[in-house]
Amino acid sequence: MVSFSRRAGPFKSRGSFRRAMRSPTVTFLGGVREIGGNKVLIEDGPDRILFDFGPSFSPRYEEFYVDYLQPRSASPAKDLLEFGLIPPLPGLYSAEALADADLAWEPPRVHGIFVSHAHADHAGYLHLVDPDIPVHVGAGTREMMEAIETSTMMRYGEHPYRIFHDRTPVRVGGIEVVPFPVDHSIPFAYGFLIRTSEGTVVYTGDFRHHGPRGEDTHAFFRAASEERPAVLITEGTRAGPDARQNLTEEGVRSGVDRILEKRPTLALACTYPRDVDRLLTLYAAAREAGRSLAVSARTAHLLETIAPRFGRHDLPVPGATDGLVVYHRKKKRYYTWEKPFLENAVDSDEVRAKGSRYLLALDLMHFPELIDLRPPRGTPFVHSMSEPFTEDDVDDRVMHNWLDHFGLSFHQMHASGHASASELYEIVRSVRASTVFPIHTEHPEAFRSEVPGVALAELGRPTPIRGPPAR
Ligand SMILES: [Zn+2]
Repeated sequence: MVSFSRRAGPFKSRGSFRRAMRSPTVTFLGGVREIGGNKVLIEDGPDRILFDFGPSFSPRYEEFYVDYLQPRSASPAKDLLEFGLIPPLPGLYSAEALADADLAWEPPRVHGIFVSHAHADHAGYLHLVDPDIPVHVGAGTREMMEAIETSTMMRYGEHPYRIFHDRTPVRVGGIEVVPFPVDHSIPFAYGFLIRTSEGTVVYTGDFRHHGPRGEDTHAFFRAASEERPAVLITEGTRAGPDARQNLTEEGVRSGVDRILEKRPTLALACTYPRDVDRLLTLYAAAREAGRSLAVSARTAHLLETIAPRFGRHDLPVPGATDGLVVYHRKKKRYYTWEKPFLENAVDSDEVRAKGSRYLLALDLMHFPELIDLRPPRGTPFVHSMSEPFTEDDVDDRVMHNWLDHFGLSFHQMHASGHASASELYEIVRSVRASTVFPIHTEHPEAFRSEVPGVALAELGRPTPIRGPPAR
């Protein structure tokens, strides 16, 4: 039974509470009226498990912490608890992360955390968690996390990692969890069927069905519907008003093909570092246009790490696949992991001299390379990421200042990691769950006119799970 400690920002109005009923419950500790930050607690008798544990992309975090002002490394949980940015759940955090926080350390009272995929908003707070709490992940996700830890500042902390397998049930006490692969903008993403003593809860994680693994998404929702679930917890990123462009992965491909056609200059693109589908799309478009795709050492490292999980010719591998090269950025010091990738890399002189041979994937944070690359005016820049959520987005303004300075021509080409609003409603209706909780959205109420049984999640309030018993 959860009881929250005092003083916890948005959680405090709930005070402490005890579960009146014996039925299992679901409690939302994040992802409520915000995109990302899902923290779904399922309790059934003595068993308690969490689904996902990462920061949200909500502006609330930035009310207190921004680039230069971050929680102290000596007390990260304490510093986040202060503003209610993480839930005051006893028996979850490590003694080290809590330091001398008001929420005192207790032996673990959470028996496992399931991570749906390796995006930061789902896994980014694992480093706060007690090192004795098992973390359940897919094998591919675990490998991606290792690659991310090696090649970035990101840390997930020490945990007993339990690897789950597609559609193979995992037992945690009396709760049975069945992971199903789904299509999302990072490989190895999962949704879950969660069988409790009173019925099944379906948790979607993040999903779409317009990418290369769309059939996985359909199979998951077919299984979910056959389960006759009591509760469906669905992501709703694109519910409500969404004027942003909506392409499929194939749409991005033909857009990039058109841009590269008969272009005598360098072409530039930027995308999310873990969006492997997009890298494949850019690679295929580059090859079609007789170019090589140049990627960062970090991207090369990620591709090499996960390559064994793909078929031999399904993923370009640095050093082994024609048409994929590593771009060698000028730095003062090079990490051990990146050195092997720089041996046959191309540098700014090469790319500047023979621009038409390359499609260069350039992260925004590496824009100073443009000063050496001197791309000719009119060089295409493919922004293959989400459009900004707000009109006064600082990063967007800075990016456009750079593009204007170098006279680059901007092309927006992105396929979202999430189903569109109308697709979402249709998929969610097909499950016919008794109760539907939209989370990971700023507009949960948008589901109300579209789907029967919609309930609005409330932060920190346990809701009983009642339905046909799980199979
Ligand atoms: Zn997410």
